[in-house]
Amino acid sequence: MANAKVKDEKKKKCRVPIPPKTQIELWAIAAGRCEFRGCNKPLYLDELTKAKDNLSLISHIIAAEPGGPRGDEVLSPLLAKDISNLMLTCKDHGKIIDSKEYESTYEITVLREYKKEHEERIAILTNIMDNAKSHVLIFQAPIDGKNFNIDKTQANQAILPKYPAKEHPYIMDLSDFADRETEDGYWAILARNIKSKFNDIFKHGTNRRDYNHVSVFALGPIPLLAYLGRLIGDIESVDLYQRHRNGKNWKWKDEPDDFRMEYYQIIEPVTHNYAEETSILISISGSVDRKKVAELVGEDSNIYEIVADKPGLDFLSSRLKLELFCYEYRQLLTKIRSVNGHTKELHLFCACPAPVAIECGRALLPKSDPPVRVYDLIKGTGGFVYALTINESSAK
Ligand SMILES: [Zn+2]
Repeated sequence: MANAKVKDEKKKKCRVPIPPKTQIELWAIAAGRCEFRGCNKPLYLDELTKAKDNLSLISHIIAAEPGGPRGDEVLSPLLAKDISNLMLTCKDHGKIIDSKEYESTYEITVLREYKKEHEERIAILTNIMDNAKSHVLIFQAPIDGKNFNIDKTQANQAILPKYPAKEHPYIMDLSDFADRETEDGYWAILARNIKSKFNDIFKHGTNRRDYNHVSVFALGPIPLLAYLGRLIGDIESVDLYQRHRNGKNWKWKDEPDDFRMEYYQIIEPVTHNYAEETSILISISGSVDRKKVAELVGEDSNIYEIVADKPGLDFLSSRLKLELFCYEYRQLLTKIRSVNGHTKELHLFCACPAPVAIECGRALLPKSDPPVRVYDLIKGTGGFVYALTINESSAK
């Protein structure tokens, strides 16, 4: 044993030096961890003392010298500096690999398998990390002259286990308009402003693929949220968040234990009269007053309604409930389209939390869904006022 050790030490001293570039590459593909199966020990710090140090060895699968472990007259000189023949290991496992004593246990195929396994795992994990990045978008618009300030730290925390793609979120802030709500053309002005802010962030001189995931934190009046929803409809993948009243945070609650499909009820008109206008009512955080809708749209209009089984401010607690809403809403749009066609305007009246309003815009298909006239609730009256039309591009 002692002799074998001395011999091994000698060999190390006359090793062929590995070029620094290859060393760095090996460190990268092994993520600085021991590649011996089952070890995975970090080699950049002492796990106990946390002192930073280089604790790695670079071991050869086929020894650098023909006389070494798994050595070969031809292959040894050929592969001495070849990364495919090198393993990053801890001191313990490096010693085992570099010892003649264990040569028959750790054959070439075994060590190649260890290396491959480790490096593939690192590649998969780092790709997952990249997919876990999300661009955080904060949207705040005044409601009845009142401004909001969404907490950036809370937003970044709410997206876990995803990671913010940038340190600072993108912010679309319309606070400057708080005292202008009574002005003529208020909604049109804000919509233009939103579109321009949106384009500044997501469209100008950038590759859209950079934004394949966006997390949205929004507070504002329904018509503007629906308008924002229509804009983000083109982004590949979007997570919406809602500010919960109780916890005063934005993290979704766990899915309810009593899972079922019937969180929503769909109420339809007895007969659909094509000659009349068609409205969609969303009663989730409260109930939309049908009488007020009829006053605006017509007594004989077609009224479709999506109602939460228990409408209230705390209804939308989980992401699942939001997804099920989207399902019902899309189904309803398809159904209405089948009788109304692609161009006949719809009227939208919502008593709902922000993410639902956004989904009302996001779910619209620009080419096949009709324009939607969105109404705003008049504070304290239960009545509505027309604000703006979304998905207008489809009107031909
Ligand atoms: Zn190890």
